[in-house]
Amino acid sequence: MTARLVIMGPQGAGKGTQAARLAERLGVPAISTGDIFRANIKGGTELGVLAQSYSARGELVPDEVTNAMVRDRLAQADVEPGFILDGYPRNAAQVDELDAILGEHGVTLDAVVELTADRDELLARLARRAEIEGREDDTPESIARRLDIYAEQTAPLTTAYAARDLLVQVDGIGGIDEVTERLVAALGAVVPDAV
Ligand code: AMP
Repeated sequence: MTARLVIMGPQGAGKGTQAARLAERLGVPAISTGDIFRANIKGGTELGVLAQSYSARGELVPDEVTNAMVRDRLAQADVEPGFILDGYPRNAAQVDELDAILGEHGVTLDAVVELTADRDELLARLARRAEIEGREDDTPESIARRLDIYAEQTAPLTTAYAARDLLVQVDGIGGIDEVTERLVAALGAVVPDAV
């Protein structure tokens, strides 16, 4: 059984946490482009230096860079049983690139899960996360910029995925366990053997 999923949702909707939990449940890797960039920034790699110049401001890293990184990651052996992509694709060009990459491997997505939450709840959660984790890009300006980019560039992708009958929407407001159970229940209809 395989499960090839994308998890979408604005920053602060609990995407990363839920992607990790789902991945464990499904026995597939959770691939977070934000985490890969952060690891590179921490390690001081060339990719990290470049990524930081964008991510610190809340801007997207250029597509050529991000796409190449995802292409490499999806060529690795551990994605054979599937994957959960968290934070990618984030714009229409990345949707096309993901389709192309998967096509080269002869596979397709099973579902795109969108975690929904309203802006006030997100701002409150991000402010709490900023205090706890001290992420460099959790400044008020960067948070606002990331939420704007999500609304302008990423949220419209859900319409495209809905038209392909791939979209599964799940309410992201609630306790962590509660939201995980909602996700599993919603995915049960799409990838029944996987959850
Ligand atoms: P995240 O942890 O998903 O919020 O990502 C943190 C930062 O990494 C973002 O604000 C972007 O600067 C960069 N990033 C992550 N994923 C992507 C992507 N798919 N395309 C471009 N930049 C990204």
